[in-house]
Amino acid sequence: MDTAKFKIKLEEELRRLESQLSQVATKSSGSSDWEPSLPDLNNQSSAPEDMADKFEELENNVASEVELESKLIRIQTALKGIESGTYGTCTVCGKEIPIARLEADPSAITCTEHANS
Ligand SMILES: [Zn+2]
Repeated sequence: MDTAKFKIKLEEELRRLESQLSQVATKSSGSSDWEPSLPDLNNQSSAPEDMADKFEELENNVASEVELESKLIRIQTALKGIESGTYGTCTVCGKEIPIARLEADPSAITCTEHANS
């Protein structure tokens, strides 16, 4: 299989996700994990509605961070598969993933049947 074009797409997507993640999260030092950015709660204003805003911002950051990081992990898994030569085979049953499915989502690591596994 021609994995080169999928690799390019995956690397583009990886960069895009990392830049999105950097808006809502910070990469923890010494690991590849991301942590949601904490809004500054120690500023001068302590009005309750300001605090509510801050907590809402935090909740949104956490939700985006979780979603983006799970996409990022899928892409990293797919890229590892390209390196080890397992890319394009289902991680559940080992069958080939249809090219059309990979074209639609290069980070797919399961066949259509196991899409929700
Ligand atoms: Zn499968």
